[in-house]
Amino acid sequence: MSKVIVVGGGVSGLIAALLACRNNDVIIVEGNDKLGKKILLTGNGKCNYWNEDINIEKYNTDDTDNLKEIINSNNQKEVLSYLESIGIYPRIKNGYYYPYSNQASSIREILIREVKRSNIEIIYNFKVDSIYKENNKYIIKSKDKSITSDKVIISTGSKAFSKTGSDGSGYLLLSNLGHKLNEVTPALVPLISNEKFLREWHGIRCDAKVSLYINDKKVKEELGEIQLTNTGISGICTFNISSIASKNLKYKNKVNVKINFLPNLNNNFYTWFTKRNNEIPNHTIQELLESLVNYKLMFIIFKRSNINKDAKWDDLTEKEKLNLCKNIEEFEINIIDTEDFNKGQVCTGGISLMEINPKTMESKIIPNLYIIGEVLDVDGICGGFNFALALITGYIAGKNIC
Ligand SMILES: Cc1cc2nc3c(=O)[nH]c(=O)nc-3n(C[C@H](O)[C@H](O)[C@H](O)COP(=O)(O)OP(=O)(O)OC[C@H]3O[C@@H](n4cnc5c(N)ncnc54)[C@H](O)[C@@H]3O)c2cc1C
Repeated sequence: MSKVIVVGGGVSGLIAALLACRNNDVIIVEGNDKLGKKILLTGNGKCNYWNEDINIEKYNTDDTDNLKEIINSNNQKEVLSYLESIGIYPRIKNGYYYPYSNQASSIREILIREVKRSNIEIIYNFKVDSIYKENNKYIIKSKDKSITSDKVIISTGSKAFSKTGSDGSGYLLLSNLGHKLNEVTPALVPLISNEKFLREWHGIRCDAKVSLYINDKKVKEELGEIQLTNTGISGICTFNISSIASKNLKYKNKVNVKINFLPNLNNNFYTWFTKRNNEIPNHTIQELLESLVNYKLMFIIFKRSNINKDAKWDDLTEKEKLNLCKNIEEFEINIIDTEDFNKGQVCTGGISLMEINPKTMESKIIPNLYIIGEVLDVDGICGGFNFALALITGYIAGKNIC
């Protein structure tokens, strides 16, 4: 029987503690006066904790081979059946898992109840500021407390939404122990532009296809809801391209986004519009677009295309037609920044996955040190992939220690 300290009582630490305690003395040390604060914020309070399509395409990481091993289907099955065994009953919508209650608090309560039932000790308000090894034991220290252990699990999260306790201190603890830290920037975050018209489109929500360009090369495309704001763009579509944008902004690369505001038409816009003009002739451009595009957006598009709203399609020159189509299908805006860490749901970058054994989540460079959850250099798109990763990595570490 070993003594195991879990540093950080978020979802990854809780599940790791639950598995590890089967054969060990486990203590959770948590900087807050509560466990699992972030869980309550997830999925707009509903906690989208899993997705039936977990695969490597949904993540960014510095080691795809290790990540493939971590999220393999066997691990996924085991974690899901473990969650069911402790009473988490899913509501599955289009492959997205929520608790049937639609309440994130039920996931948090179940995990905490199991921790208490398993006699795992919890030390609150223990903000770890150093970890080192002495005579084969770990010494874990806060400002005024010190504790020793045989094994340590680091589950301190990233530095997204620091008011929940994840303030990035885990990065420092691990880099001081010799682990490689890859540049950390916000992800699943709104993108900031400095185009002049942004105030005019503030508040519009619509379906769109959003393409991300880095140094004028298309690198990612997302279809879904976009929100147009007075600082740039937001919404799920934006979040899903934000990790790559965020990294490239950090490296001072040129970042642009092209938005297709009518992605679901059968043909390209030019063909479609010509046909529509024939079907309902003698209509102005505005009349043809009415009920297809939000008014505010339509006028921004006309202004940018230098086209009068009362003009007719047949009166436009070929160049004007092409210009209008371009601004409907490839409306381009520059991206100059992301919102900060407190507006990002997760971070991209973190402790390199290359230095972790994917079968155990143990450090390859320091024995008996395990690293799990969002502190690692893995981030997923929206849809339950980040919570799932915290669950899977925590499960693997706990199971292997046990
Ligand atoms: C608003 C919001 C909505 C989200 N919605 C979803 C969603 O619907 N689906 C999804 O998949 N993901 C979602 N996420 C992301 C998901 O919540 C996280 O990826 C996941 O909770 C990470 O778990 P973790 O255990 O690694 O870290 P955390 O949950 O951040 O837990 C880390 C814990 O460690 C403690 N800690 C930190 N440093 C120290 C220290 N030095 N000493 C002691 N304790 C310390 C913290 O207080 C905290 O309790 C959302 C995130 C946010 C912010």
